[in-house]
Amino acid sequence: MDECGVVGIYAPDRSDNELSAVYEAARALLTLQHRGQQSAGVGGRIAGKMVVTGDLGKVEQAFRGGSSLGGLDRTDFAMAHVRYATSLLIQGRTRAEVDSINRLAIHPMSRSPLPGVDFMLGLNGNCVNATDLLAKLKQEKPILSQGDFVTDTAIMTSLISQRVATGLSIREALLSVTSEVIGAYSMVVWGQDKEGEKLYALRDPNGFRPLMLGALPNNGWMVASEEGALNIAGAEFDREIPAGHIVEISADGLCMYPAFAEINPSYCIFEGVYLARPDQRINNMRVRQIRIHSGEKLAAKHPVDADVILGVPDSGDDAAKGYARQSGIQQEDAFIRNRYNMDRSFIEDSQISRETKIKLKISSIISEYVAGKRVVIVDDSLVRSNTMRVLVDMVRRAGAKEVHVRIASAPIKHRCLYGVDMPDESELIAAHRSVGEIAQLIGADSLAYLSIEDLRESTGVVDRQNLAPGEATFKFCDACMTGNYPTPTSGFKPLSQVGVPQNL
Ligand code: SF4
Repeated sequence: MDECGVVGIYAPDRSDNELSAVYEAARALLTLQHRGQQSAGVGGRIAGKMVVTGDLGKVEQAFRGGSSLGGLDRTDFAMAHVRYATSLLIQGRTRAEVDSINRLAIHPMSRSPLPGVDFMLGLNGNCVNATDLLAKLKQEKPILSQGDFVTDTAIMTSLISQRVATGLSIREALLSVTSEVIGAYSMVVWGQDKEGEKLYALRDPNGFRPLMLGALPNNGWMVASEEGALNIAGAEFDREIPAGHIVEISADGLCMYPAFAEINPSYCIFEGVYLARPDQRINNMRVRQIRIHSGEKLAAKHPVDADVILGVPDSGDDAAKGYARQSGIQQEDAFIRNRYNMDRSFIEDSQISRETKIKLKISSIISEYVAGKRVVIVDDSLVRSNTMRVLVDMVRRAGAKEVHVRIASAPIKHRCLYGVDMPDESELIAAHRSVGEIAQLIGADSLAYLSIEDLRESTGVVDRQNLAPGEATFKFCDACMTGNYPTPTSGFKPLSQVGVPQNL
């Protein structure tokens, strides 16, 4: 499981003229497409039985333009999920094997542990201790099927199911299993059992991944990874579900309470740098605003005597805006993005494909903006630096006199254990190189990064008291930049060595 988007809806009292909950959930995925393009799934019911429909690919492909949703009942509850591609899953496997694994990993994942008891689960995140969880599952359920452990989410789902089968309610089993998980999970569960039919939304004690709550018009609630998904359904943003809290939604209303004795908020700072949509809120601040602030700080700390600023579309555009605003240098949209190929190079799954996709994504440059000029290219981050190498070369070929690169985050030196598909340190350009060496590798005349302190300050929330219950101050995870992981890390093994059997 990796960076993903999740949606849960409780929409009673909908007339036949209004979109059903399943269509609403599927439509909301369109706004979360940037969080995952590997597969999309929607959970509903057919003849009262919980089912998941979906397929590999983007939302449109996975639901065949919506036609595959037609057979689902009109229900009050629904769930949906987009899944992120991981490079770990494909190593040494054929395309058919990869597709087979990824089909098994489509979310939500559903189980029916007892007659009349069923539930489904979708999450965004990654377990650090999946090995331990798999060992527990083997103890509790001696005979496993491939679907039980295809991902860490499958392991968690099967553990919950197993514990429900022994007499716990879905809520009790959910809290029991998550108390044993180390890692990141913002999850949604829809279940029916002795406690009734409910939607649960739960964030891990660190709150690495976002989870938003909105009120639907004319009764009902919605939870989603980002606020944009609430907006498309007409839901009014209510709050960000605090780290370590669970929300229960049913016909009896909504309640929220802490789910863990210890809560240690460590929100992923990379959501603000790159992952989230600009309209997302992080601690009541819009992501676009954070990125503009970081560009302003970058210009103040690392100025260049230059003629023009170029943002790398789209991820660097807001930071470039800030850089231009602070420096007073003109910003131009010189890079031309191919609107009909919106894949994000960062989440492609092989080196060749990634290089090709960069060229398809940013197809050309308007040379008049850069010819004979001293140019600053601004981007949000450098991971492998594939994109930047291509762009620096493109700008030089278009006749630039000098090309300087400015990065609106700190160097990424460590892999993420919490659900963002960072490559191994061997592939991270900053892991073992100086800034000068990186500048040389990407072909830039100079290179500078924002410091981690300045990045934190750009969020505008450092040292500010957070309003959420249970949280004293707003703190970020920045482990990929600092190496300071906010959870124990000793049990971590890559997904390919844990959840996916080699013979699958
Ligand atoms: Fe986010 Fe980096 Fe922490 Fe991963 S390691 S959760 S990408 S800040």
